[in-house]
Amino acid sequence: MTQDLPPPRPGQPRAVLIGAGITSALTGCLLAGDGFQVVVVEAREKGAGSSSRSAAAIRQQFGTPGTVRGMIHSVRFYERFREHMRCAPGSPAVLVQNGYLFLYDRPELHEDPAAHAARWDRARERVQMQRASGLDAVAALAPAEVGARFPWIDAPRLAGATWCPTDGFLRPDLVYGEGFRRLEELGGRIVQWAPVTGAVHRGGRLAAVETARGTIAGDLFVNATNAWAPRVSRLLGGADLPVSPVKRYLYFLQRAGSLTGEQLASFPMTITARGAYCRPENADQLMAGWAHRAAAEPGFRHEDQDEVEAEYSHRAGLDNHAVRTWMELAESMPALGEFAGVSATAAGYYADTPDHNPLLGYDPRVPNLIHACGFSGHGAMQGPFTAEVVRQLAAAGPALPAVRLGPEGDVAVDLAPFRLDRSFGAPEEMVI
Ligand SMILES: Cc1cc2nc3c(=O)[nH]c(=O)nc-3n(C[C@H](O)[C@H](O)[C@H](O)COP(=O)(O)OP(=O)(O)OC[C@H]3O[C@@H](n4cnc5c(N)ncnc54)[C@H](O)[C@@H]3O)c2cc1C
Repeated sequence: MTQDLPPPRPGQPRAVLIGAGITSALTGCLLAGDGFQVVVVEAREKGAGSSSRSAAAIRQQFGTPGTVRGMIHSVRFYERFREHMRCAPGSPAVLVQNGYLFLYDRPELHEDPAAHAARWDRARERVQMQRASGLDAVAALAPAEVGARFPWIDAPRLAGATWCPTDGFLRPDLVYGEGFRRLEELGGRIVQWAPVTGAVHRGGRLAAVETARGTIAGDLFVNATNAWAPRVSRLLGGADLPVSPVKRYLYFLQRAGSLTGEQLASFPMTITARGAYCRPENADQLMAGWAHRAAAEPGFRHEDQDEVEAEYSHRAGLDNHAVRTWMELAESMPALGEFAGVSATAAGYYADTPDHNPLLGYDPRVPNLIHACGFSGHGAMQGPFTAEVVRQLAAAGPALPAVRLGPEGDVAVDLAPFRLDRSFGAPEEMVI
């Protein structure tokens, strides 16, 4: 295999990125632009992991200033994606900015009113923090404002909502599809059906990865396998990564009744007070989800990603999570109760960390290995931020304290909350 790859130019370093999803596609382009010869090594085919199974919502409404700034960077990148990736004229946008709406119910509607009241208080405080972090477009809306903008929402049941019109959702297949196309234009190579099975170390560093299609040497290695990352880290002699693969399901609700196709297509990504969410897939279907308690599955197989257990399947009568998700959404949006039903169920794995922030940093044991994983259900939106962090880590080394973002590089985001050796505090609250 090694001989099938063109040798790097004299003096040119080679970066080997493991896993061919959104993270590698975007990171690969930046590293290639910085002079690396980039080789992506993938166990199956491009998009074989979560990147092709994602709700791909994107928001800047996060719970810490660093993540808000990182996500402002991501939204700006995706707004200009076609320019960055030199897409063909007329190619579709990857970012649909329908906005992102978090609903907060009147506390007395719930069994735990104090918790709901506190959540709404914290949401309003977060809006202040988000605005102070540069997110000017975010706002807290009163129920009447929600009703006026989104007439399908049962506004009288609300205490209020938070709203950001520049958020929305992505077309993830286009993100990695166009990303890998651009990477190949920049001289990068993508080696598919080549699972990494082992490593060659020399002088305390990683010299090469062994794959089912041969050994691939490199100077820098990036573990971009997200839910598989702990296993791949072990294969490479790296650290134990606190990343838990957890199954999540997506449901497709078929439009019927009073809601028009035009209204449905204009839906923002909407989150109910108890965390169920939906966004338009097209004018006739809403994509929906609702996180449930689930045990980690550290040994999951690729095939398990598409396995839909009866308890979560729309095919299993009325007593299942699919119908419960639909009904939960209809509580806040009564017109959804007129829908024809749930027409499909899909699944995939989140890669959860204890605080729901990703792991972005050098391995403490293998000095030329960077991990970019543990996205906890946010890796599509965090892709451009992640790519920028890896690029700057590659240039500066492990001591880099902060990543610099913005057109002038004048926005600094502290990397401490993403380091592998951080002590995990309270989880990011803004997780669905
Ligand atoms: C149901 C669901 C809903 C989601 N919703 C959202 C959302 O709304 N917004 C958002 O931003 N994110 C969301 N996510 C998360 C997001 O999809 C992921 O975080 C993101 O796609 C991760 O991309 P990645 O490139 O890091 O990893 P992946 O796309 O998972 O790619 C990892 C790759 O590594 C490969 N691999 C594994 N082992 C090896 C090996 N030994 N050798 C070589 N290759 C290997 C795999 O085959 C895979 O292709 C969701 C995920 C799911 C499952």
